[in-house]
Amino acid sequence: MLTTSLDAARTVAVREVPEPVVERPTDAVVRVTATCICGSDLHPYRGAGVALPMLMGHEFLGVVTDAGSAVRTVSPGDLVVPHFAVVDGTCDSCRRDVPGSCARLSFYGQPDAEGVPTVGAQSQVVRVPLADGTLLRVGDRPGDVTDADLLALSDVMATGHHAAVTSGVGPGSTVVVVGDGAVGLSAVLAARRLGAERGRDGVAAVRELLGRDGADAVCECVGSQDAVDTAVAVTRPGGAVGFVGAPQAVLPFRRLFMRNVRAGGGVAPVRAYLPDLLDAVLTGGLRPGRVFDRELPLTDAAEGYRAMDAREAVKVLLRP
Ligand SMILES: [Zn+2]
Repeated sequence: MLTTSLDAARTVAVREVPEPVVERPTDAVVRVTATCICGSDLHPYRGAGVALPMLMGHEFLGVVTDAGSAVRTVSPGDLVVPHFAVVDGTCDSCRRDVPGSCARLSFYGQPDAEGVPTVGAQSQVVRVPLADGTLLRVGDRPGDVTDADLLALSDVMATGHHAAVTSGVGPGSTVVVVGDGAVGLSAVLAARRLGAERGRDGVAAVRELLGRDGADAVCECVGSQDAVDTAVAVTRPGGAVGFVGAPQAVLPFRRLFMRNVRAGGGVAPVRAYLPDLLDAVLTGGLRPGRVFDRELPLTDAAEGYRAMDAREAVKVLLRP
């Protein structure tokens, strides 16, 4: 089967490797029907100091083909959407709905918590350790729900949602989203769903914004110092910022302190949000698949990375 490897900076290869199999009773093997490239994949692509070669990808949608004897919640034939990392669903963090901080967290493409290697999600087949904690069965889906809508739940939509939740978006909130990548666009969808103002009221609110105190809620979806500073600067006293951009910055702590601005966010607890967001897609009209603006075969993954790196594409879906 085919998997995607970053062999060197800006050098992506798709090559044959042995097909993954169930290695532990808690594993599931999933045939990937759709996967994609994340903005965070661009950091190693551009040469951020990581060990190479690196097996790529952490977002997918697929069908279970085999499951270990201890797996209870998914079975062969089930369409499943995952958390973007492997989580157990049973540790203190998972039970407190912060599975992104799971005690047995591991990442696709790296050894699991027991040290057994995995491939990345930009593959035709993936082994999912701790399948009960990590995967959610989709069930029946209406004909107008696309693979892209479901795939987006595995990371990007859930991360945008986390920014909206942790910045306290509620009915009537004025919201500023810092960042126009796929997570920022997802944060706009999430903020709208949670009741943020839009239309004429929204425009008036934004016009007032810079001359006034600032927004109730700010979703920071970039992670750079400029983006973090901007996010804090446009938050009203007593408001809140949800930080979900991959952090490469320090918080202006004194400014937060003097303005009583709350700082939330963090790595998105995708698995905790999945049931609600899946229901919103299946029955509530949420269409996060709109963040994808290009689709390529997996064999053209290198072109997908190039296009996102050049900002010719916001987010690229790959078909194995
Ligand atoms: Zn856990």
